[in-house]
Amino acid sequence: MVETDIVIVGAGLVGLSAAVALQRIGKRVVLVDAKQPDFSLPTGWDQRIYALTPGNVQWLRSLQVWDRVDTRRVNPIHAMRLWHEDANLQLDSMDAHLPDLGVIIEQQNLMHAFGGCLKDTALEARYGAVCSGIENDSNRVALKLQDGTNIAAQLLLGADSARSRVRDALGIGTRLHDFAQTAIVANFKAEKAHHDAAYQWFRPHETLALLPMPNQHVSLVWAMSTQLAQQKLLLSATDLADLIGKATDNALGSLTPVTPAAAFPLKQLTAAHFIAQRAVLIGDAAHQVHPMAGQGVNLGFHDVIELASQLHEAHAMIPLGDVQLLRRYERARKADVMGMNILTTGLDTLFALQNESLQTLVQWGFKQVGQQNWLRKRLIQQAVI
Ligand SMILES: Cc1cc2nc3c(=O)[nH]c(=O)nc-3n(C[C@H](O)[C@H](O)[C@H](O)COP(=O)(O)OP(=O)(O)OC[C@H]3O[C@@H](n4cnc5c(N)ncnc54)[C@H](O)[C@@H]3O)c2cc1C
Repeated sequence: MVETDIVIVGAGLVGLSAAVALQRIGKRVVLVDAKQPDFSLPTGWDQRIYALTPGNVQWLRSLQVWDRVDTRRVNPIHAMRLWHEDANLQLDSMDAHLPDLGVIIEQQNLMHAFGGCLKDTALEARYGAVCSGIENDSNRVALKLQDGTNIAAQLLLGADSARSRVRDALGIGTRLHDFAQTAIVANFKAEKAHHDAAYQWFRPHETLALLPMPNQHVSLVWAMSTQLAQQKLLLSATDLADLIGKATDNALGSLTPVTPAAAFPLKQLTAAHFIAQRAVLIGDAAHQVHPMAGQGVNLGFHDVIELASQLHEAHAMIPLGDVQLLRRYERARKADVMGMNILTTGLDTLFALQNESLQTLVQWGFKQVGQQNWLRKRLIQQAVI
């Protein structure tokens, strides 16, 4: 029997960040994953990229994770350029007196940084371990592994993706909104400079983003109906690049593919509860959101920030799995997640409406934001936490 304070299932970015943050506040952590995480830095460019908010970059700095990031592979976002039909809007970091609106970073760059950080800690990692059961009562939680190991802990964190087995084992249901969309991601070298701007086009049930990367590269995140995506995935890399050029009015000139395209089906999935007896769901296990707002992993990091702060501030006599503490955590996180769900489904529906007066209203909204400094500043301040 292995005894620990906290057992985390899932060594994706959110589970890894929880392992670092909870060890920093003095907790003993066991991290379990069905696979061996890949902590290597890619030689080329990774197609999986994240837009991280300045607040989360600051947090990763405070955990000393950022010290291990290869910053030559990170690109700041100084502006956002948004289009809907003929209307466009530009948000600049200077509007809100900020150095940047966030950064674009490759998944493997972050994985590599977490791997390096955890190597130097007392973390007990069980990689390649499959969970076979969970028993939880008011005193403790026990995680059983298929190899016969039992891990007893005060608290269990389920960070095991949108298809969380931990969530199922705890009997927590989900609410699902299937966008019937797929995101195509790939990297390109652009003919024209991107000037550290993130470009995004909104069309009916379709969003296309070109996100700035170093050396004039851009990362594509193109969400569209799954049927259309399947057709586009059959195209050669150069034909796809030409199509993206047309769909973006060649805003960045011609695009040269540097990675193959990959596809991700898009769903909005929210767990009915984020907590159970001596257990907490974090990251995509608790909430999977549409990538149009680039917030999935950012929300997961916010889960960890909130949980670590509540555990750190709790009186030493309060057990880690205290019901009141977990309820406080859940209340805090539900508001944030619901807000993001409303924003992404609302935008998807709004941009898809064919009603002429509503479209005029959207265009009017873009224009108002473009003309009002205070409104742009407020929007930016909301987006960068
Ligand atoms: C196209 C696309 C673009 C995106 N862009 C952005 C962006 O710009 N910014 C942003 O913030 N977010 C973005 N996201 C969302 C982001 O990718 C996810 O929110 C994030 O990766 C979730 O991390 P996680 O650690 O919770 O889960 P995962 O990354 O899914 O990790 C789960 C881990 O659990 C392990 N696991 C699974 N099942 C078990 C089991 N039974 N036992 C043990 N281990 C298990 C897996 O091996 C894995 O290591 C995007 C998503 C998509 C699809």
